[in-house]
Amino acid sequence: MSMIFRGRGVSDGLAMAEILVLGRARLHVPDGPAGEPEEELRRLERGLEQTRDRLQRLRTEAAEKLGEKEAEIFDAHLTVLEDEYSVVEPMRELIRTQGLSAPQAVERQFDELSEMFRSLGDALMAERAADTQDLKEQLLRALLGEEDGGACDLDRNVIVLAEELLPSDTVRMDLSHVVGLATHLGGATAHTAIIARTLGIPAVVGLEGWEEISSGTEAILDGGAGTLTVSPGEAEREAFRRSDAARQEEEQSLAAFRAMPTATADGKCFELFANIGSPGEVKAALEQGAEGVGLFRSEFLFMDRADLPGEEEQFEAYRQAVERMEGRPVIIRTLDVGGDKKLPALPLPQEENPFLGCRAVRMTLKRPDVFLPQLRSLLRAAAYGDLSVMFPMISGLEELRAAKAMLEQAREQLEAEGVPTGRVKVGIMVEIPAAALMAERLAREADFFSIGTNDLIQYTLAAERGNENVAGLYTAYHPAVLRLIAATARAAEAAGIPCGMCGEAAGDPLLTAALLGMGVGELSMSPRLIPRVRRLIGGLTLEQCRARARELLSQSDEGAVRTFLMSQENV
Ligand code: PEP
Ligand code: MG
Repeated sequence: MSMIFRGRGVSDGLAMAEILVLGRARLHVPDGPAGEPEEELRRLERGLEQTRDRLQRLRTEAAEKLGEKEAEIFDAHLTVLEDEYSVVEPMRELIRTQGLSAPQAVERQFDELSEMFRSLGDALMAERAADTQDLKEQLLRALLGEEDGGACDLDRNVIVLAEELLPSDTVRMDLSHVVGLATHLGGATAHTAIIARTLGIPAVVGLEGWEEISSGTEAILDGGAGTLTVSPGEAEREAFRRSDAARQEEEQSLAAFRAMPTATADGKCFELFANIGSPGEVKAALEQGAEGVGLFRSEFLFMDRADLPGEEEQFEAYRQAVERMEGRPVIIRTLDVGGDKKLPALPLPQEENPFLGCRAVRMTLKRPDVFLPQLRSLLRAAAYGDLSVMFPMISGLEELRAAKAMLEQAREQLEAEGVPTGRVKVGIMVEIPAAALMAERLAREADFFSIGTNDLIQYTLAAERGNENVAGLYTAYHPAVLRLIAATARAAEAAGIPCGMCGEAAGDPLLTAALLGMGVGELSMSPRLIPRVRRLIGGLTLEQCRARARELLSQSDEGAVRTFLMSQENV
């Protein structure tokens, strides 16, 4: 009899294989008396050195198997191990003054660090706590001389099941045979989810009842539905085989649309760009056929670290992104934090309603010490390719002018210092209804618009993004949202500036025709969505797109919008 276990799908796809449960053997730190402090201190140094060597090896392996971005987690681990002030010296102190053994000192110090991260109470910090535990285990294994198991050297395909997967677990896995990941712990931004999406394999987190499942059992993992079907029956196997064959066929037919320009059947060209968070993601974007980067969320360079990246480090990241895009346009958005995005290195004031608070450009305008280094690094990187600067959360002309003045100040500084800079276009995100309503005026002073539907929806409908209680209200299909999009595109067209879109709605095939028909000329999305949208555009004429836009905008309620969208042909 089959059994279905449920969790939350964080990476789409289907896999059928046997389960491999990755148990984590509990490490036991002997509580007996320690050796002489001098001896324990030497033992600690040896353990630290071994762990550093191991992390260097894992880093190289991760870069080869998964790419630079995934390897960065090991740089973060190395930084912690080299942190004399809050990590290494306190452990030595515990050995010297409290007579602890090296493993006891490691356990005490790392548990305290995890507790500190956990007490900060947000999801990102909880993940930092998990990383700290990973590091503790590696150090203890080095000190206690214990080896761990893992999913290395596999001779068959498996779905890996674990309570939690840590970065060091995944890197040591034989990824050519891992066809799915399922864990009890972890969220959509946790390591498991990121790795699975990078590898394009299904993943489910938050799996309940997982302890009952044993290795060797056959199972079907559905990353879309968030289910793990253990011991599937013949009907379930047959259903899997059918959808798997259909998926493979679809993948193959889409492959041709990666390497072709984007145009309608009657030859009107559009642009499909990629959303990225680091230069490491350019490779995947180009592989999927991105014609540019429509949104580089620079805040990702600032996240998950204890300090702020300086001008030099940012310059390197932006330069790499434009160089790797080989002359294609790259739109880099200045720091957009606040709201749901918090930075450990930049504590912001506690606010009752952070989404309506001092976030994004409102914050950077108040912090020239943060904004100017970013603007300087962007101007410097612009000397290496086609770079545009985009300001997030612009609500009116004053903000746009103030941000542009700051950019000018950065340019003057660099010129006075004799540092080379490049020309940049300066655009804005239209993601606040006020900006959409003032688009006609803003278009006279901005070089381009990019509509951010993720925020535009929440501010138009007063329904917080990510709040499950109002998830039913949060939709791009509300006529008010569609009218604001149309008004923005019309204003851009009248002023002769390009209008793009980089919110999630840009990758929604149901909206593609109408968006193009409204005058949105560039759609920026998660790279894997590009081929499908390109194929769709190739089957439409410009007149069809315009007719669909007109019809869509004539609907007066969300239900009618949905009915119309679902009735479209070829989507
Ligand atoms: C948006 O708001 O649509 C957008 C693209 O920005 P973010 O999701 O980063 O807020
Ligand atoms: Mg936004």
